Amino acid sequence: MAKSDRPNILYIMSDDHAAHAISAYGSRINETPNIDRIANEGMRLDNCFCTNSICTPSRATILTGLYSHKNDVRTLSEKFDSSREHVAKMLQRAGYQTAIIGKWHLGHGEGHDPTGFDYWSVVPGQGLYHSPVFIEMGRRKTIPGYATDIITDLSLEWLKQRDPDRPFFLMVHHKAPHRPWQPDAKHAHLYEDVEIPEPPTFYDDYSNRAAAAAAAEMRIDRDMTFTDLKEDPPEGLTPLERKRWNYQRYIKDYLRCVASIDDNVGRILDYLDAEGLTENTVVIYTSDQGFFLGDHGWYDKRFFYEESLRMPFLIRYPKEIAPGTSSDAIIINPDFAPLFLDYAGLPAPDWMQGRSFRSILQGSAPDDWRESMYYRYYMHGGEHNVYAHYGVRTRRFKLIYYYKDDPGPREWELFDLEKDPYEMRNVVNEPEYAEVVEQLKAELHRLRVLYEDDEDPWEGEPAFTE
Ligand code: CA
Repeated sequence: MAKSDRPNILYIMSDDHAAHAISAYGSRINETPNIDRIANEGMRLDNCFCTNSICTPSRATILTGLYSHKNDVRTLSEKFDSSREHVAKMLQRAGYQTAIIGKWHLGHGEGHDPTGFDYWSVVPGQGLYHSPVFIEMGRRKTIPGYATDIITDLSLEWLKQRDPDRPFFLMVHHKAPHRPWQPDAKHAHLYEDVEIPEPPTFYDDYSNRAAAAAAAEMRIDRDMTFTDLKEDPPEGLTPLERKRWNYQRYIKDYLRCVASIDDNVGRILDYLDAEGLTENTVVIYTSDQGFFLGDHGWYDKRFFYEESLRMPFLIRYPKEIAPGTSSDAIIINPDFAPLFLDYAGLPAPDWMQGRSFRSILQGSAPDDWRESMYYRYYMHGGEHNVYAHYGVRTRRFKLIYYYKDDPGPREWELFDLEKDPYEMRNVVNEPEYAEVVEQLKAELHRLRVLYEDDEDPWEGEPAFTE
């Protein structure tokens, strides 16, 4: 491929934006016309999954094409060793102009600041919504305004000053709509006079599940703080009324933050159009994982359950991707780096665990494309008291193993996603699923061997080593 033919890659990622708050994914609660443009003019992935649904690990996986146990970022408290090889370094060496603007969340200081980027301006840690501090190439500065607008402003400024004769790789990483969901003035009154529908599992009582679901501390009715809600509830509410009130406070602020992202995605798409860059630029919109939007009575993520597992993934590249298409192929976040390399005409190195899905985006999946995926969450207990677990998801089933017994028992969950798409009934002990359980345990073991994860095997798991 001639160097000049290589496409630009514009990767827009928000933080905690669930697919079911995007109208291209059939949202019941909001409209996202600008994000939808990417879907209407490109492809929507319906089975794109995060392999460890929490911010920092997902980001390390996206950069390296590796599962958490291979890039050593398993939890929020581990920093990324930025001397490691990763996709931005490879693209930079291949002649791409590279930049990351917004949320990094992989650690700061020597050994942890962004590497592989010609330009970087990132918020420390979680960052702030209003007048955020940025660390620009190592220098701290406060920028007045709203984070989502500023991240877009900085991205557009970088695009304007780039060398138009070389392709670019730009990661636009929004802080929003992460907790504590602080909207800007422009959207502060959106949804003021409407009631947002509650999700079908809002009144889940966590029966018929392993102990982990009831133990989790991310309940809308019980675990939200004043910082989350920003005002006191009216006096005299019953517990049920209070839960509903909390949900409306939470979801409206969340969706207001999303509305600002949507506006700013529109600004970037308009810029590409105005500059004649649309044809030769791969544009992606995704989020670092999904989120519970009142589903199961929860906010937050972490679980292998559908709402937090699923990443929105919309991609436009007019030269290769037909408009208005979708795919149900199982894609995982370790696949992103190999895809970027593929577009740049570079082979993915053998050590990467993901695989480019460029042909799937062109409409044909390879015969040997995966029919299952491996998931693992490590942060046992802690702030939201989610038990550590790993498991396997196929198109129809999901098997989960909660592997630590302090706190909480070691337990298995099996969900039949065809009969029970909301994962309300654990059928692991039902006789008619006994064979399925054995097949899925074998598949789980196969994946753990494939990805070389031999930490914390279950009792009875066959030995890994030959
Ligand atoms: Ca996140």
